[in-house]
Amino acid sequence: MLIQLIQQLKADLFLCASLGYDPAKWAFVLNPHKYATSPDQEKNLVDLGRTLFIVEQALNVDIMNNITSGLRSIELQSKIDTAVGRALRLGSRHLYGLAADVSDPHHSIFDAVCDETDVQTALGVWLKDKGSTPTWCHLQIVPPASGKLVFIP
Ligand SMILES: [Zn+2]
Repeated sequence: MLIQLIQQLKADLFLCASLGYDPAKWAFVLNPHKYATSPDQEKNLVDLGRTLFIVEQALNVDIMNNITSGLRSIELQSKIDTAVGRALRLGSRHLYGLAADVSDPHHSIFDAVCDETDVQTALGVWLKDKGSTPTWCHLQIVPPASGKLVFIP
């Protein structure tokens, strides 16, 4: 039932629009710094916004209003990495517009997304494990190298 809904939402842009999907709003929340984007980043951000909208619809969670980090510049990624004492992560999916962080202090979004493997697979989102994201949920729309739905970065 849920998987059917997800597949319908993925296939039917008009259905998404009729439920309130607004690509411009997602573009704004996923790139609040208004970084200049390459065509690839632009496309990725559209895919990311659409996917996050489908997560909201399917699981009844609020992602749009809880996004804390979307697209990052290399400078911003460098600041974040330096702040936690690690080298610049050029592999960060945030640099490509393929990942978003959402405030999730009780892991309710995390738990909803990975509750059922089939649902998470249908959604096409991969999550960093809770241990490495204590107060937020990192969602990306490409698999990590391990291919695991929930992965340790
Ligand atoms: Zn992240």
